[in-house]
Amino acid sequence: MSTIPACLQCAMENTYPDGENYVCPDCAHEWPMAAAASADDPDERVVKDANGNALADGDAVVLIKDLKVKGSSITLKMGTKVKSIRLVGGDHEVDCKMDAGNFMLKAAYLKKV
Ligand SMILES: [Zn+2]
Repeated sequence: MSTIPACLQCAMENTYPDGENYVCPDCAHEWPMAAAASADDPDERVVKDANGNALADGDAVVLIKDLKVKGSSITLKMGTKVKSIRLVGGDHEVDCKMDAGNFMLKAAYLKKV
């Protein structure tokens, strides 16, 4: 009957809805219902870096290996820092703006800093 999720923080199930939020009386954690709903959305894909950390728009990352750019003589060097990434769909899911240009890279070759 109840579809209220257990607390994200302490996993207790005494949670209740309060306006737009769910509230946990045990640890006082509150979180928006919208976030809980989108976590179940299969289209909401989590992009993870080489260490399994979730990446988000605006994160700073470094390259963990040299990457040759297809169709050019450019090699992106290991350790190159990207100040602000943008997540996009597809096979190469991270849009990286660098001095050498704009590149679409795989999250598996990046590490959050
Ligand atoms: Zn709790």
